[in-house]
Amino acid sequence: MLSCVVELQGLQKEELNGKRGVCLGQTDEQRQSGRIGVRVDGVQDVSVKLQHVRNLVNIENRGPKGFGVIAQERLKAGCLLVRERPALHAQVGSTVDKQQWKKLSKVEQDAVMDLSDAYADANDGKTLEGIIATNALPCAPNSEHSVLCTLASRFNHGCSPNAEYLWIESSQMEEVWAVRDIAPGEEVCVNYIGDDVCQPRAFRQARLRGGFRFDCCCVTCLSACPKSDERRERLVKLHEEILSYRDRPEEGIRIAENRLELLSTEGIGAPRTAAQVCNDGFELALLMGDREEIQAWAHMSYEAHRLGWGAEHALTKQMHHYAQYPPVLEEQPKRPEAKPTKKPVQSTDAADKHLATLPQQATAWLTSMD
Ligand SMILES: [Zn+2]
Repeated sequence: MLSCVVELQGLQKEELNGKRGVCLGQTDEQRQSGRIGVRVDGVQDVSVKLQHVRNLVNIENRGPKGFGVIAQERLKAGCLLVRERPALHAQVGSTVDKQQWKKLSKVEQDAVMDLSDAYADANDGKTLEGIIATNALPCAPNSEHSVLCTLASRFNHGCSPNAEYLWIESSQMEEVWAVRDIAPGEEVCVNYIGDDVCQPRAFRQARLRGGFRFDCCCVTCLSACPKSDERRERLVKLHEEILSYRDRPEEGIRIAENRLELLSTEGIGAPRTAAQVCNDGFELALLMGDREEIQAWAHMSYEAHRLGWGAEHALTKQMHHYAQYPPVLEEQPKRPEAKPTKKPVQSTDAADKHLATLPQQATAWLTSMD
C-alpha cells in the first residue's frame, strides 16, 4: 500500500530485518517480479519481494461504520504510520484545478474516486468536488489550503484519537503518527475537529454532523459517559480561564497540571494538544520566577514538541534550549511568597525575546505553527 509504513522481515540481509520504511509502490518491472520499493530510515531505497514487507496498518471494512484504518501489529506512541504525497491540492471555496486531475495516473484517479462522498445522494453519484469536501485535510488549523490523500484521508475520526495528522510544508507531505500505544486489530483514528474534541459529547456530535455529515460512533461517543462530559466541560472552562491566572501563576500552574491529567484521562493528550498546555505552564512558571518549575515545564514542552512536530522543528529546538538553560524574566513581580531560586540565574536575551513574542493567548502561539 503506497505511502504506508512497512516493516521488513525474513530478508537474507539480516541488518534490514525489523527496520521500518515508507512503501514507495511498484514500478512496472517490480510488479512483474513481485517486488516493491521501500525507503528505509528516510534515506535508503531498497527493492524487496512482497512477502518481506508487512504493513503497519491496513484499510478494512468494519461493517456499518464502513472502511477504517486498522493496526496490523502493536504500534508504539510516536511511531510514523503514513508519509504521503497528496494526490490533489485544493483551496477552500475554489473549484478543483482540472490540470492537477489530468496529471494523475488512472490508478491514482481511481484511488481518489474510491474515497467516500458525504454529499452524494441516491440520484447523483459521487463527484470530485464532493470527495474533496468530504476528505481534504487542512494543512494547518484554519488554513485555506488543503490536500487530498488517498491513504491519509482514509482515517476515521475518534473523540479520543490515537493518532494525529501532520502536514510537512518543507517536503509537501502529509504524515500520520501514533500518539498512543495501539493494539493489533484496533482502529487508528485521528481528530477532525481541532480543540473542539475537548468539548462534551453533544457539542462534538453536532459539530461532526454539521461539518462532516456523520454521527460519530467512536468508542467515547458510544459509551456516552456522564463523567467524561463533566471532565471535558471542566477542560474547556480551565482552558478559557488560564489567562486570568497570570497574576496568580502558582495557582495557574496547578490548573495546567489539572488540565494535563484531564486530557490524559479523556484520551486526548496527543503531543500537540499537550504542548499547548505545557506552554501555558512554562509561561506561568516564568511569571512565577521559580527556576525548577521553569525547567520542568520547558522539559515537558520540549518532549511534547518533539513527539508532535519532530526534533528538528524550530519550537522543539527552542524548548530544548530553555530546558537546558532556563530563562528568567528581567523584573519579577514583587510577591512576598515567591520562592528564591536555588541558583542565581542570569537574565537572558532569549527569555526577553520569548516573552516579547508570546501572543495574548498562549495557545495561539502553537496553533499558528504548520
Ligand atoms: Zn466521537
